[in-house]
Amino acid sequence: MRKEIVKVLASEKKVMFQDGGAEPYDTLLIASGAKPVTPTLEGLPRSDYLVFHTMEDYHRLAKSLDGGRDVAIYGGGLVATELAASLLEKGLSVKLIMRSRLLRAYLDEELGEFVEKVFRSRGAQLLERVEIREAHKVGDRDVELLLSDGSREHTAVLVACLGVRPNIDFLRDSGVRTSTGVLVDGTMKTNVESIWAAGDVAEAVGFFSSQPEVIPTLHNALAQGKVAGANMAEELASYEGSVRNNVFSFFGNLAFSCGLATLGEDDAEVVTQRSDDGQRVKKLVFRDGKLVGGAFLNHPEIDPGVILYLIRKKLDVASKREMLLAKTREVSRQLMLDAERRGTSLR
Ligand SMILES: Cc1cc2nc3c(=O)[nH]c(=O)nc-3n(C[C@H](O)[C@H](O)[C@H](O)COP(=O)(O)OP(=O)(O)OC[C@H]3O[C@@H](n4cnc5c(N)ncnc54)[C@H](O)[C@@H]3O)c2cc1C
Repeated sequence: MRKEIVKVLASEKKVMFQDGGAEPYDTLLIASGAKPVTPTLEGLPRSDYLVFHTMEDYHRLAKSLDGGRDVAIYGGGLVATELAASLLEKGLSVKLIMRSRLLRAYLDEELGEFVEKVFRSRGAQLLERVEIREAHKVGDRDVELLLSDGSREHTAVLVACLGVRPNIDFLRDSGVRTSTGVLVDGTMKTNVESIWAAGDVAEAVGFFSSQPEVIPTLHNALAQGKVAGANMAEELASYEGSVRNNVFSFFGNLAFSCGLATLGEDDAEVVTQRSDDGQRVKKLVFRDGKLVGGAFLNHPEIDPGVILYLIRKKLDVASKREMLLAKTREVSRQLMLDAERRGTSLR
C-alpha cells in the first residue's frame, strides 16, 4: 500500500500520512532518499522537460523518443553520461549541455578529456561551461534553448540530469536538524531521540574530513543502513564515512575512480603510469604515505574492492608506492592479505 509521510510528530512519536492516517513508532529510520534537481527554465514549464530518476522517468523518456528523436541532456555527471552513452548506442543524436566538463566530480582533466574524446567520436555534441538561460517550445516537436554564451540550440527532447536533493520536506517542524540532508552523528542518529537516518537523505561524517556530506550512492546507503539498523537494535556500530567510488564503462572502455581521485589537493601526491598509446592510464593518489585515491582507465585487472580496502584501512604504503603503481593488482592484493594476516579488522 502506498503511503506518504507528510509530517513527523517527534514529541508524540508518530508519523502522519497524506491520507490523514497516522502510525506510532518506537524508533524511526528516515530513509526517504532524494529527488532529482529540477531547474527553473525561463519559458519552459516543468511539464515540458524530463528528468531521469525512476522507472516512470525511463518510460516517459522512451515514449517521448518516439523511435528516434534527438535529445539534449542538461548535466555532465554520471547519470547524464550513462544516459548519453545508451542513447548514442541506440543511434540517437545527443547533445550534453553542462556547467563545467564531463564527469568533473569523478575524473581529473586528463581522464575527463579522454572520455570526452570517445563521446565526440561517437557523435555526441558536448557544450561545456554553459547553462541554459531560457527554453521555449517551438511548435509541437521542438524546443529552442538559449545558452549563457548567447548561442541557441534546438532539441526534440530535453532531459535534466543535475543531481539529486534529499527528500526532507516532510521533516519541517519536526525538530530534526537538517542542512542539505538530515544531519546525523557517527551512529546515524539524528539530534532527536529515537530517530535515525540513512542513505541519500542523510548528511553524515565524511571519510577524509569531519565535514558532513551527502553521498547519494547505493553502497553508501547500504553501509549507513547497516549502521543505523544495528544501533536502532541497540547493537553498537559506527559509520566512519564513505570513500566515493565509481565504475563507468563506455563504448568498450572502463574507468574506475575512487577516493580523492579528482586531485587538486595541495598536500596530495599523484603517481601516474600511461601506456604509449594513452589508452590505459593508472593514477594513485597519496597523502602522508597513505593511499587516498585512485583513477584507472582501461585496467580491468584491477580489483576496485582491494583498492578501496587499502584506502579505508589507511595503511602506510609509502615504501611500496612505486611497486604499487607498477604492479597494482599483485601488490594491492598482497598488502591486503598482509593487513588481514596482521589481524587488523575492516573499518
Ligand atoms: C538513474 C540512476 C542511476 C543510479 N546508478 C547508481 C549506480 O550505478 N551505483 C550506485 O551506487 N548508485 C546509483 N544510483 C543511486 C542509488 O540509486 C541511490 O543512492 C540509492 O537508491 C539510495 O537509496 P535510499 O534507500 O537512500 O533511497 P531510495 O532508493 O531513493 O528510496 C527512498 C524511498 O523513500 C520513499 N519516500 C520518499 N519520501 C517519502 C515520504 N515522504 N513518505 C514515504 N516514502 C517516501 C521513496 O518513494 C523511495 O521508495 C543511481 C540513481 C539513479 C537515479
